[in-house]
Amino acid sequence: EILLAIESTCDETAAAVVTRDGRVLGECIATQEKLHERFGGVVPEIAARAHLERILPVIDTAMTQAGVQGEDLQAIAVADRPGLAGSLLVGVVAAKSLALAWQKPLVAINHLHAHLYACQLSQPSGESVYPAIGLIVSGGHTTLYLCEDPINLQYLGGTIDDAAGEAFDKVAAMLSLGFPGGVEVSRWATRGNAKAYDFPRSKLHDGSFDFSFSGLKTAVRYAIVGPGRQDFSSLELDDSTKADVCASFEAAVVDTLVGKSRKAIRQHGVKRLLIGGGVAANGRLRRDFAAAAEQDGFQLVIAPPELCTDNAVMGAIAWKQIDRGQFATLDLDITPGLQRGF
Ligand code: ATP
Ligand code: MG
Ligand code: FE
Repeated sequence: EILLAIESTCDETAAAVVTRDGRVLGECIATQEKLHERFGGVVPEIAARAHLERILPVIDTAMTQAGVQGEDLQAIAVADRPGLAGSLLVGVVAAKSLALAWQKPLVAINHLHAHLYACQLSQPSGESVYPAIGLIVSGGHTTLYLCEDPINLQYLGGTIDDAAGEAFDKVAAMLSLGFPGGVEVSRWATRGNAKAYDFPRSKLHDGSFDFSFSGLKTAVRYAIVGPGRQDFSSLELDDSTKADVCASFEAAVVDTLVGKSRKAIRQHGVKRLLIGGGVAANGRLRRDFAAAAEQDGFQLVIAPPELCTDNAVMGAIAWKQIDRGQFATLDLDITPGLQRGF
């Protein structure tokens, strides 16, 4: 049994053909990094246009690689929420058109549930990783959930301002390290001293499961240029300062994530933590969470690095919805924003 999954929530156009038992028969991801790089962030109009140009070739590539045709599919799944409106629309319209043309059922995926489901796909035995505490650390979200199963998630808390990935991207921009910044900042961080700057661990002990990264971002700004300066283009920092800033910033983000996640595990008595989203590819994050898991005695499942950033393989979550008879109809619409983390 196979299905086609489509992902176009932000700036990756992706399609995958996945079997019910989790095998990937075909996959294609067209990233738009080069298109958005000079703007230092994703430009929604450019993203939508690029999705439109790429969606059919991307689907075609995944299907050809898998050696399957429309008639071979059990269903067509697409992420319909959350994300950029124009981006989501391209994937949803493509999925609906193919579902109609091929007369196949349609499944609507929550992109955040899929980010966490990437953890399930790391289990070779297929053993369930639920129930668990789920932490999503991505470009748009930093959220903790109590996950009963892949689809029933209870919101525990989330960022009240920037997402963790967004903070990485903004710090990278301040240091002129390129976009997307997460990978660059973490590369520089490996050569720096994480104790060089004492950056704030905001909200760490406030009793909530919320996060805040805008104060940290401002602290980084002050550390490198002092208050008030807006233009970073002429800033000259030596490499060791850059590396120290990156390492200290990264440590502050990871400390906060680890602290809150530990608390969620303790409070809810769930002995397993799932982590998904682009920032989960970060080396320090993976190391520090592994140490915390060993110390506190919980099972840690982080999405495989290649399934942390946006991809369509994690759309395999659609099988769980198919099993429950949760299908979408051809009047499916996009849902760009979420209410309190859903
Ligand atoms: P969302 O899923 O919330 O809609 P998104 O899909 O744009 O947002 P992802 O693709 O999951 O986000 O992740 C992208 C983010 O991950 C970017 O902000 C990027 O800088 C960050 N990132 C990627 N690799 C790393 C890394 N090694 N260390 C830190 N951050 C990283
Ligand atoms: Mg992206
Ligand atoms: Fe994402």
